[in-house]
Amino acid sequence: MTGHVHFKGIEEKDTARYPLTTDDNVQLLLTRCRGGDRGPVLLSHGLGVSSEIFTTGTIETSLAAFLYQAGYDVWLLDFRASILLPACRTQFTGDDVAFHDYPAAVAEVRRLTGAADIQVVVHCFGATTFFMSMLAGLQGVRSAVCSQVATHMVTSRLTRMKAALRLARLSRLVGIDAFDASPPRPERFRDRLLDLLLYLYPIRRKERCSNPVCRRIAFMYAELYNHANLSGELHAHLDDLFGVANISAFMHLATMVRTGFVVNRKGSDIYLPQLRRLNIPITFIHGSDNICFYPESTEISCNLLGKYNGRDLYNRVVVPGYGHIDCIFGKNAHRDVFPAIVAHLDETRAVRPGRAGAPEVSVAAGITFRERMSGRFAASRGGGTTSAEALRGRLTLSLAITLADLAGFIRDPEHRGVLSGTVSHPMFGAPVLVDHGVFKLFAPTEDPATRLMVYEFGFTCDGVSYFLAGRKWLRNDWYLDLWPDTTTLFVTLYEGEDAGGRVLGKGKVRLSLFGLFRLVTTFTALNSATASGRRRTLCRFLGFFAANIVAIYLPFLRRKTNGQGS
Ligand SMILES: [Zn+2]
Repeated sequence: MTGHVHFKGIEEKDTARYPLTTDDNVQLLLTRCRGGDRGPVLLSHGLGVSSEIFTTGTIETSLAAFLYQAGYDVWLLDFRASILLPACRTQFTGDDVAFHDYPAAVAEVRRLTGAADIQVVVHCFGATTFFMSMLAGLQGVRSAVCSQVATHMVTSRLTRMKAALRLARLSRLVGIDAFDASPPRPERFRDRLLDLLLYLYPIRRKERCSNPVCRRIAFMYAELYNHANLSGELHAHLDDLFGVANISAFMHLATMVRTGFVVNRKGSDIYLPQLRRLNIPITFIHGSDNICFYPESTEISCNLLGKYNGRDLYNRVVVPGYGHIDCIFGKNAHRDVFPAIVAHLDETRAVRPGRAGAPEVSVAAGITFRERMSGRFAASRGGGTTSAEALRGRLTLSLAITLADLAGFIRDPEHRGVLSGTVSHPMFGAPVLVDHGVFKLFAPTEDPATRLMVYEFGFTCDGVSYFLAGRKWLRNDWYLDLWPDTTTLFVTLYEGEDAGGRVLGKGKVRLSLFGLFRLVTTFTALNSATASGRRRTLCRFLGFFAANIVAIYLPFLRRKTNGQGS
C-alpha cells in the first residue's frame, strides 16, 4: 500500500493505492476510496483513458465520489490500457486483459477486503474485456453494471468501414504502433499535419469545436459524447483524460467490430459458447445518442443473456440525450445516470452468483490459498493442427483453492473446495482459465489407508473443451513418503467436458519446496472481520490438515486424534 490521494468529494484519509502484478508480470494499480461498509465495487475504465474518468475534479460529482458518498468501498482499477501505467505503451489485446488483469484485480480486492465476492462497474473496452473474462471463467463477481457495450457491437457505417479497411493494421505497417489523443509534443510537424487533416474528418455539425483532442478522439474511436453534456472545464482538459492506445488493441477491437461480437484476437469464437457463465445480475446502461456503439449493442446482449439465464437477471437503462462516455463524466451524470448505477448495486448487495438457482448469502468463515505445480507432460494427440513440438512441454497449473465455508468443508466427507486459475502448456498457446474446478482434500477411497487429493477442472481452448483430472495418492508405504505423496499430482487430460472423453495425455506435475513456501504465504482467511477471527480460521484449517496427515502416515498415533480435525 502507498500513500493517500486527493480526489474532489472524497476524504484523503479514506484513500490508498495498491500496486499489483499480474501473472504475466504486468504492473497494474488499484486505488481504494473507502466510503463505508456497503461492500467493494471495482470500477474499470476504457481504452486510451484511465481511472481518472471516474474521479475527475472538472465536474461537480464524479462517479467515484458519488459511490463513495453512497457508502460503497470503491476500488478504481487501472488495467494495462490505463494511460497512467507504463504498460499502456506496450502491445496487448483484449484477451490479455481478460485472462490476466481481471483475475488478478478481482482476487486482490477480495484478498484485501476479505469479501467473498465483489460488484463491478465496467465501461467500454473495460466492459468488453470484463465480459470476456467472465466468459473465460472469472470468479468472484456477484453483480455488474455495464456501460455502453458488452458482448455485442453494433457500430456506424464509418466505424465498420475503418475496421474493414484494416486501418489499425495499415498503421502498424507504416510504423505507427499507437494512437495518441494527446501527443506529448503537439507542436511537432507530424502531429500538426494530422490535426490539419483531421479537420476533414466527418463530425456532426453541432459537435464540431476548436479542441483538436475532440477530433483525434473522433478519429481514433468515434464521436464519444454530446458536447452539451460536458462541463467547460472538462472539455478544456480532455487532453489530461485521453492518451495513448496501442495498435494491437485496436486490431483486436476491429476484429470484433467486423464479427459483431466478442472473439479472441485471432477471431475465434471462444467466448460466446460460455454465456451461462454470465448468470449474475447485470444492469446495462446506454446513452441513447451513442454513435460509437449503437444502443442496439447492449439490447442484443441483454436479450441473448435473458434467453440463456433467465430474464429477471438483466435490466437495461437507456439514458436519453447522452452519447458514450458522457454517461461517465457528463456534468449532470450524477443526476441522470449514477442513480441507476447505485440502484443496481443496492439491489444486488447480498446476491451471490446463482449457479444453483436461489440467491444465498454466505457469511461462514472460509479460507483461500494459491498453489503452483509444474512438470513434464506429453499429449498423445491434440486438437487438429497441433504440431508435434507443441504436444510436448511443461504443464503448469496456477491454481487458487477456495474453501468458502470451512466448517462445511470439514463436515463434508469428501472435503470439497473450489478451484480456479490457469493451465499452461505449449499446445494451448497462452494460459487458459480453468472452469468448474473441483478440489478435494483427503477424500476417502475403497482402501481405508489411502486418501486422495483431487484437482479436477474443465477448460476451453480455441473452441475445444478439455477436462483435466489430477490425483495425489496419500498412502503410508513402508517408508515415510509424505513429501512425494503430497507434492506429486498425477494428471490425465481428456477431450470433452468430463473424464468420459478420449485420453489426450498423461503426466506428473509437482509442487516444489519453494512452491510450498510460497503456498504457505498465500493462506488467507475469508469473511472474518477481526485478526483473531482470521487466526482462528487458519488454525482450524491447519489443525484439520495435521490431524489427517497423522491419521494417514502415523496411524499408531491415531487414537490421540479423531482424524477429522476439530
Ligand atoms: Zn470538443
